[in-house]
Amino acid sequence: MVPAIVGPTTGVASPSQTSSIGAVVPQASTASDGYVDVLARDPAGLLWLYRGNGAGGWISPPLQVGKGWQNMTAVLGPGDFDGDGHVDVLARDPAGLLWLYRGNGAGGWISPPLQVGKGWQNMTAVLGPGDFDGDGHVDVLARDPAGLLWLYRGNGAGGWISPPLQVGKGWQDMTAVLGPGDFDGDGHVDVLARDPAGLLWLYRGNGAGGWISPPLQVGKGWQNMTAVLGPGDFNGDAPAPVNCAVVACVALTFDDGPSAYTDRLIDILVQTRTPATFFVVGSQVAARPATVRRQVAAGLAVENHTHSHPDLTTLSYSGQLTEVTRADDALSAAGVTRSTLLRPPYGSWNTTTRTLGKPLILWSVDPRDWEVRDAAVVRSRVVANATSGSIVLMHDSHSTTVDAVPGIISDLRARGFTLVTVRTLVPTMAPGDLVYSRTNILPAGAVTTVTDETDVLRAPDGSVLGPVLDEAPFVPER
Ligand SMILES: [Zn+2]
Repeated sequence: MVPAIVGPTTGVASPSQTSSIGAVVPQASTASDGYVDVLARDPAGLLWLYRGNGAGGWISPPLQVGKGWQNMTAVLGPGDFDGDGHVDVLARDPAGLLWLYRGNGAGGWISPPLQVGKGWQNMTAVLGPGDFDGDGHVDVLARDPAGLLWLYRGNGAGGWISPPLQVGKGWQDMTAVLGPGDFDGDGHVDVLARDPAGLLWLYRGNGAGGWISPPLQVGKGWQNMTAVLGPGDFNGDAPAPVNCAVVACVALTFDDGPSAYTDRLIDILVQTRTPATFFVVGSQVAARPATVRRQVAAGLAVENHTHSHPDLTTLSYSGQLTEVTRADDALSAAGVTRSTLLRPPYGSWNTTTRTLGKPLILWSVDPRDWEVRDAAVVRSRVVANATSGSIVLMHDSHSTTVDAVPGIISDLRARGFTLVTVRTLVPTMAPGDLVYSRTNILPAGAVTTVTDETDVLRAPDGSVLGPVLDEAPFVPER
């Protein structure tokens, strides 16, 4: 049988009621394969998982992931509501109770469902726009019979921040309301609404629980559509796949955060659609978990720079491993995926460091931003020294570095470089590899020689790989 999508997800509604709502679209992958999926409820109340393949098609067959859902009067995919790193589903029963079905990140559920609300029976639309107020936690929007739009602020732990806030009025005639995610690419989630004439309107979220005026008309002729939903990037066109063997790539990397300046940097990267890699310090992650969640939600890479930023060469094997593991634990506690790459503080490593289970990511361009603290100098140093395959070392712990980034991005793009994450720059890396740039990689197990007098690392053929000890002194934030 073909399961029918009986309604929208992130919330569609008729003007008078929402009882037809029946499909669910988590913004992220339900099955944790990194692709957007679709949940659909059939007339028998079975819930089916349609697994997107990231390229506009499906992984067959659809999987049954639930039963007995026929009476639910609203079903939506808010994202990760309980902060465990997996997308969840919210469902409203006929009594108006709101239930949290906790995804387990593998296409199944953590039992039992939890009641997270009551009195929702009169809401005529319920949708999960993502993080609407910019606090790092996903939220829910609901329309009441009077046409008022209410923001229910998720607290990131499966509950709410009270009270709900009114964020709109006059929405009663809208025949569909949904949360497509960040539709206009400004880094803030948006809302799409269909009016009775079939016009589709974009209400631009301002990232702080409000709107950028005015709403923009982005479609017409939608009046006959019986379901409207926002699946995320179904055809895999954003970001475009990049092959750095073919195009000239540069990877910007930022160490020592998250800091008080990191959110501003995220805004810049999102607005310019610039991939980047953050090597975060575990103690900073613990202090600013919402910022790390923002990085991940924005598609930025978050990797390991140890927990407390020691010179790893002063530590035993267990001491080094503890530093790396604690940083990963901090990422888990923040609700994001553990790291796969390690940047040793100061670029300092020894043979033990190469046995910690991750590739070691060094760099080939170092503007010494932590020393110069001058945006114009940082910009010119990076742009002058970047070549195809470069890994650029910077620090989001300095405001002047963040100031330099817009110019760096525009200058590098003007020179023809495509900006990518380290993973995209070097798609295949093995634990213990020393990665200085795309083409300058010392494989795990290869003999290395440290030359004290010049303080650089040389490959067996004598070529200079990079600095042995460099990078910024780390100053924890107060
Ligand atoms: Zn550092």
